[in-house]
Amino acid sequence: MPTLENIALFDLDGTLADYDGAMLRDLRKLAAPGETTYSLYHEDLPAHLEARKNAISRQPGWWADLEELTLGFDVLRECVDLGFQIHILTKGPRSKPAAWKEKVEWFQQHVLPLAPEADITITQDKGLVYGKVLIDDFPPYMLRWLEHRPRGLGFMPLSEQNKDFSHPNVVLYDGRNLVEVQERLQEAYARQAGK
Ligand SMILES: [Mg+2]
Repeated sequence: MPTLENIALFDLDGTLADYDGAMLRDLRKLAAPGETTYSLYHEDLPAHLEARKNAISRQPGWWADLEELTLGFDVLRECVDLGFQIHILTKGPRSKPAAWKEKVEWFQQHVLPLAPEADITITQDKGLVYGKVLIDDFPPYMLRWLEHRPRGLGFMPLSEQNKDFSHPNVVLYDGRNLVEVQERLQEAYARQAGK
């Protein structure tokens, strides 16, 4: 049996780059004293907060300046050490072309020093892209990717929005189960086509 290509797909925002932390910090700066606060993933975020989010993330340099997330980089280092080909898979916000450019700049600055052979795809549909494993914090993108990949393996850095997510093909990583992450990655790495 041929060996499947050992590609590990990594999301950026919420996985390697701290989108939520920066967005919450900047929303706090714009909030009036005593104003009601909402989760970023509130189902029905009021229009004025959506408008603030858009204004924040349209500032030049905002995406390029995002901080690194420890949980995502833990998994990235494991994948690099095991010899996975690293491929960044991130969604491009349709109405913010500058974000696409800055995501590439972030990738160059933060990912390439660790994984010089890494590549990046900016897409509207993560389900189209092949990988043996996907590291992504957002349940709908994970489910979409797993839809046609019954043996695909997912890893999720724990966050507010995925803490209750559960799926047999997905390992939730909270910083304490790195051994489990290593073992599942090794199994995936060794898996041959058709098995
Ligand atoms: Mg994400």
